[in-house]
Amino acid sequence: MSENCTHDCSTCSENCSSRVPKKEPCNQYSNVKKVIGVVSGKGGVGKSLVTSLLAAESARRGNKTAILDADITGPSIPKAFGLHGLCDGDDLGIIPFTTKTGIEVISVNLLLENEKSPVVWRGPIISGTVKQFWTDVIWGNVDYMYVDMPPGTGDVPLTVFQSLPLDGIIIVTSPQELVSLIVSKAVNMAKMMNVPIIGIIENFSYFRCPDCGKDHYIFGKGSADAAAVEFGLPILARIPIDPALATLCDTGRIEDYDGAEIVKAAVDLIEQA
Ligand code: ADP
Repeated sequence: MSENCTHDCSTCSENCSSRVPKKEPCNQYSNVKKVIGVVSGKGGVGKSLVTSLLAAESARRGNKTAILDADITGPSIPKAFGLHGLCDGDDLGIIPFTTKTGIEVISVNLLLENEKSPVVWRGPIISGTVKQFWTDVIWGNVDYMYVDMPPGTGDVPLTVFQSLPLDGIIIVTSPQELVSLIVSKAVNMAKMMNVPIIGIIENFSYFRCPDCGKDHYIFGKGSADAAAVEFGLPILARIPIDPALATLCDTGRIEDYDGAEIVKAAVDLIEQA
């Protein structure tokens, strides 16, 4: 970085290590008003499930909603919404799938002949695919686009952070992750990228006993509140371990979940981002 760095790469021609790539413009057939990234420090904490719940709640409120599944090596969004098959496309671009409540979706699984095939691609190809999901898909008019980001803080999430015009991010975490350094890394990465963090959603927070109604904090209690203080970020939702939620997600019926008000506070803040 030059001594006189203004942190505005658009006015500088130096090719330094801190150079931020230009944000990719969308195409002429798309007008996306707000882009929200959903990130996690590592896989398996429920990032895709939370992305799906947020999108379902946004759509329920009457917004034109879309999901860009940027988790190229672990795509879970089509499964959560019961989407199978191949996207159509023509010279103008790729047509996204639409879920039963009208959410537009693009995912690598909707472009593979066999959705069970692993994506064994190098980082630059994966990053290029995510960029194409933004530039080559005909999204039309979208009020809220949710990006299911690749987990972690490696090369691919970094490129996605830098190429998509994110208006804000939501960090999804589990109680165990909160007490490790993983969430700090995700928070610090967003800060380095100058992307506003809307807040934290704690998944697998507790289990409500169906017999006695008591909440059991299986992975520990209090870590979310401590993290909120440490990072100065609000906890937007605490999602319980819910076998019904897992079943809906794993059988393509996430839009049927009747407890989606659990993410109401998060969607309220997203609308203000
Ligand atoms: P990630 O995107 O972080 O890798 P997923 O959203 O794909 O994680 O979730 C991983 C698995 O955990 C899925 O099978 C999902 O149905 C299940 N799961 C996620 N959150 C919950 C929850 N709160 N209760 C029950 N199962 C959940």
